[in-house]
Amino acid sequence: RLDEVDLPERVARQYPFELSGGMRQRVALAASLASNPQILIGDEPTTALDVTTQREMLDLLERIQGERDMALLLITHDLGIARERANRILVMYAGRLVESGEGADVFTHAQHPYTAGLRDSDPPLKHRLVLLPAIAGSVPRPSEVAVGCVFAPRCDRADDRCRTDTPELNGTTSQVACWKPITKADTPHLIQIATDVQAQNTGTDLVVVKAVSKRFSPSAPLALDNVDISIRLGEAVGIVGESGSGKTTLARCLIGLESFESGNISWMINAPMAQRAQIVFQDPTSALNPAMTIGASLAEALRVGQRDKSEVPALLQLVGLPAEYARRRPHGLSGGEQQRVAIARAIAPKPKLLICDEPVSSLDVSVQAQILNLMNSIIKEMGIALLFITHDLAVVRQVVSRVYVMNNGRVVESGTMENVLLSPQHEYTRQLFSSVAGK
Ligand code: SF4
Repeated sequence: RLDEVDLPERVARQYPFELSGGMRQRVALAASLASNPQILIGDEPTTALDVTTQREMLDLLERIQGERDMALLLITHDLGIARERANRILVMYAGRLVESGEGADVFTHAQHPYTAGLRDSDPPLKHRLVLLPAIAGSVPRPSEVAVGCVFAPRCDRADDRCRTDTPELNGTTSQVACWKPITKADTPHLIQIATDVQAQNTGTDLVVVKAVSKRFSPSAPLALDNVDISIRLGEAVGIVGESGSGKTTLARCLIGLESFESGNISWMINAPMAQRAQIVFQDPTSALNPAMTIGASLAEALRVGQRDKSEVPALLQLVGLPAEYARRRPHGLSGGEQQRVAIARAIAPKPKLLICDEPVSSLDVSVQAQILNLMNSIIKEMGIALLFITHDLAVVRQVVSRVYVMNNGRVVESGTMENVLLSPQHEYTRQLFSSVAGK
């Protein structure tokens, strides 16, 4: 069984904590295959894995599926994976099947407005867009689904019938549940490709990290190994790499949440830490205090920046939320709205640097596009620098002008986003970019 999933025999004598994420997933796969199923269901089987491990895992699944002549139901939020790996794709929205068809054709010739919206808001890797086409609003909770088409509140083609009658799946080779499906006669969405924002070769440094090294215990390997980076005033910089590469540790060192053994971090401005840098984390639900109203959270953040709480409505407006949200608590907001609040809270003290650590990883693709557009407009409007940390190369492509690639605690490559993407110099960078599915 272990041999089938490309694992050595010794793994049978090891405990799960001794294995990497990819190896643990292979063990889980071997266990699922033990009863020789006719169909294997993979529920986001590669979501927690790095892009390179993800590709190996998907190749393995494909090989085993072929060898066993077994069906594979792959559940994923990643359009690239679906496009690249599936013979047939079913698109679900708020508990309903809205479209199905042959492979990538579902996206290329999307008939349902939601499928088309998903396709358009999925950030491309090859170019940067002026504005990511996002679907307005958010996915309704099950209790909010009323009669009629479940997508009607977010659909710009909706009419009265859509709001009263529920469309059923219709069609033969491809099926769609929509009263007014998109046809070839419809004008496609125009997307505007941006010329890459030129990285600033000059300008005033905001913070310079020089030869910083850190390990979490004397016997542990270096979490940061002689790291050098710099961020200039008003510049958008990315750090990409897989989990365990040291990205988050570096961010935590920058804002003083972690100490480091050697090297130094020099801030070129004289201000309290709260006004030097603020951070937005991946999971807004755990980042916001559930006991505080949104207004109270924002008022507290404004006070840290010596600003008045009367600015709460303006702050909410800046992140695209109505002023009445000040009275709500985090649980009454969708994931995307919570992340908007987290961004508002971070920019409230007017920091010179906004650090975003995987800020859109937990969001639906359509909401992700809204947040990326928001971040781009905020940094432009406020003139603050951005340090964007992510494992998602297509996402970082849409936001930054300069990028650092990290691997095993070291910066292995850096340069303008365009240069690193088009002519990566380091083998690891090449591997990272070539592993991105379906882009
Ligand atoms: S049925 Fe109407 S509201 Fe629903 S997706 Fe189609 S056009 Fe939009």
